[in-house]
Amino acid sequence: MERGALELLPYPEYPFIMKPCPKYTFGVGDRFANGAHAQLAAFIEAKSLGVDICPVWNKSNREHLIIGSEPQQTREAADKAVADLGWSGPYLLDADHINLGTVDRFVSPCDFFTLDVADDIGEAADPADVEAFLTRHPELIGGITIEGIANPLETSREDVERAANKFLKATQKAGQIYRHILSAKGGVDDFVTEVSMDETDSPQTPPELLIILAAISDQGIPIQTIAPKFTGRFNKGVDYVGDLTQFETEFNDDLAVIAHAVHRYRLPASLKLSVHSGSDKFSIYPIIRNAIQRNGAGLHIKTAGTNWLEEIIGLAEADGAGLELAKTIYCKALEKKDALCEPYSTVIDIKDANLPSAETVKNWTSGQFTSALRHDQGNPQYNPDLRQLLHVGFKIAAQLGETYIQALKSNRDVVSKNVTGNLLDRHIKPLFL
Ligand SMILES: [Zn+2]
Repeated sequence: MERGALELLPYPEYPFIMKPCPKYTFGVGDRFANGAHAQLAAFIEAKSLGVDICPVWNKSNREHLIIGSEPQQTREAADKAVADLGWSGPYLLDADHINLGTVDRFVSPCDFFTLDVADDIGEAADPADVEAFLTRHPELIGGITIEGIANPLETSREDVERAANKFLKATQKAGQIYRHILSAKGGVDDFVTEVSMDETDSPQTPPELLIILAAISDQGIPIQTIAPKFTGRFNKGVDYVGDLTQFETEFNDDLAVIAHAVHRYRLPASLKLSVHSGSDKFSIYPIIRNAIQRNGAGLHIKTAGTNWLEEIIGLAEADGAGLELAKTIYCKALEKKDALCEPYSTVIDIKDANLPSAETVKNWTSGQFTSALRHDQGNPQYNPDLRQLLHVGFKIAAQLGETYIQALKSNRDVVSKNVTGNLLDRHIKPLFL
């Protein structure tokens, strides 16, 4: 069907004057505000290889709390890297996974906001609001033909009512957070808005995504990226665990639903999927790459923790005092394992029996340590359990304070080489080049 042939709902034309969000945006984490230069170097290299990708420095409230940092520090590190390296392209700073209770200290330094409403999924909306939603959206009931999806989506009134009961409250909360940020910014809509629902147990189906987008449009949110929960497990720092064929179908259907919703509900044309990857989901990269190239779609991908692990790899590779510090961090993380893992219980899957003892690791060479930690699935010594533990173990480095920061500074070259090379070779090239 031709796009223009779709009947438009009588929506107001939202004054979409929000900050433009480039087609390809890539979230990087700089937990210790010390790696922005090395990260930006990967984007500069990508540009010289022919692809424009906008870096987005993301750091969640949880990460700031664990480290004891402020969003302003991330802003300063990003601005300094951009100035020092002469980056003239766009870049953004993401207040990642914020809500009404946590957003305020992000308002001034950030220009990208990830409104996390996953906890509000399933919270009952006012029955009158559910009824009004059903009345407003008769088009969601029955067979919905969507370009790019072979069979029409079939939804009954009960399906839509069930989905409204599950998601309407969450979209209303997203509307409240958006309006709060807008008013705190002095009414100037100069930021990118993402809505995230990924930190929950069950994935959202493509028909649910359509219903969610209709409800987000009703809230007048100029949403530019949406992060659903996809099928499969996105454990921290390690590869995807799940059915690749099912992921591919779902991802392609989600792209089709977004293109449909942009037109039908007059959402920003820049709206795209956001993949909260938890870092290093290499086996789905070819699927994502093919899908966005075939559809001409944009993509936002978040990869935060992979950078912090590269810092540890760089220290271990430096040998000497750097290796000793990397070992200390592992041994302390092993000691504090339960406490470190607790906030991340739904996104890690560590088999204790596969974690090497502190005694073992203390005797490792530089090569043994980097082989265990570096995400090279072809290396028989690669240990995904150790990698996940260190991924959530950044609190240990934060507690080391200046000792850790000084080690990064003393070993800047080898750390930077790992940070830049990892982003470029393992992430950017397979996804975009
Ligand atoms: Zn997320």
